[in-house]
Amino acid sequence: MLIGHGWDLHQHSANRNLILGGVSFDEEGFKGHSDGDILLHAICDALLGAIGKKDLGYYFPSDESTPKNISSTNILSEILSVIEYEKFSLTNMDITIISEKFNVQDKAEKIQKNLSELLEVSTEKINIKGKSSDHYGIIGDQKASLAIVSLLLDDA
Ligand SMILES: [Zn+2]
Repeated sequence: MLIGHGWDLHQHSANRNLILGGVSFDEEGFKGHSDGDILLHAICDALLGAIGKKDLGYYFPSDESTPKNISSTNILSEILSVIEYEKFSLTNMDITIISEKFNVQDKAEKIQKNLSELLEVSTEKINIKGKSSDHYGIIGDQKASLAIVSLLLDDA
């Protein structure tokens, strides 16, 4: 059994739509070279960490070698092929999203469903927790939000 851990933080941007876990919401999104999907980026790093294949920036640096505004769903599918995901089964994934800009729980069901399709697992294996930062710091000031992911991979 292999444990993976990843996290990602982006600044919010009034000019971008919120894309979280590959799902688009009609709310203020994130700055970023890509679509700024903090959750999919944290998942990619957790998957790469579990099998010991460096980090997301190694495969998708935030420069002109990565297409601007690239969809993080496409990034995830590339990472799934890098780690040969078909050789593994995802035991479970525990997600924490720390934000005071948007409500996490009212998005959780849609995100859980989309992740279960992208990762080909049942929704019960994916848990999503929403947290605040007690109105403190860049998250409390609604300037940024953070996603943290832990997961376990087992042999398929
Ligand atoms: Zn990111």
